[in-house]
Amino acid sequence: MDIETALKKGQLILKDNKIKSAELDSEILMSQAIRKDKRYIILNYNKKIKKKDLKYFDFLIQERVKKKPIAYLTKKKDFWKYEFLIDKNVLIPRPDTEVLVEQILELTKNKASMRLLEIGVGSGCIILSILKEKKKFFGTGIDISTKSLKISEINSLKLGVNRRLKLFKSNIDNFNIGKYDLIISNPPYIKKNFLKCLEKDISFEPVEALDGGIDGLEETRKIIIKSSELIKKKGYLFLEIGFDQKNKVKKILENNGFYIKKVIKDLSNHDRCIVSIKI
Ligand code: GLN
Repeated sequence: MDIETALKKGQLILKDNKIKSAELDSEILMSQAIRKDKRYIILNYNKKIKKKDLKYFDFLIQERVKKKPIAYLTKKKDFWKYEFLIDKNVLIPRPDTEVLVEQILELTKNKASMRLLEIGVGSGCIILSILKEKKKFFGTGIDISTKSLKISEINSLKLGVNRRLKLFKSNIDNFNIGKYDLIISNPPYIKKNFLKCLEKDISFEPVEALDGGIDGLEETRKIIIKSSELIKKKGYLFLEIGFDQKNKVKKILENNGFYIKKVIKDLSNHDRCIVSIKI
């Protein structure tokens, strides 16, 4: 079978199974199966596919039919300016979270050197994007998942910032190392009962990265309380929040000695990030 026929077939199967971006997905999965880029595919529509590659392509299409996210099938995701290694042990980086990176860079543009802590480092996409841009910044990342720490370590090596990053397996309650100029976290903030209402794709992602307990704020609360000890005076805390959590999170911050500097909206105009400063 040639590339074009296989692509069309894949597309049709995805469409029949109500996958929205059938055309694009089929192309991405073909690229993964034959280990060539999009340009090669377009220029070689009539080329025959090796049997082994076709079998892999069919497998990928069937996985996508089950709604497995593309990033878990290709094991990578572009975020900010870089490509990150991704697997089922880490949350897939979201374009909305790039807003957080943009704001951190904006608010620290005149700072020469800073010590950063990311709580729940996952793939490392946030802290590593910052370290890559700011050559004199030093980062610490903690996570409860050993597998996610492995992924963030590989990503730090890929980006060449590993010498400026320390990783620790720890939950926030037990972490007591260092004082930081800036703390970042995209914690799990979805209400437990709401998790099953989300799109099927999300059920493939690690529940520890999504489940924010009964009110969605259990982890956020812990992070704020602990950050107030780990942060230096006048240090920044950047928190990603759910679209309806602004007022509640503001209150928790204020009760723990933080002053609200800014609330940032995401690409869909929802409140997505609160920037606060330790008084
Ligand atoms: N933004 C993610 C989502 O909507 C949630 C991530 C999180 O809980 N931190 O799926």
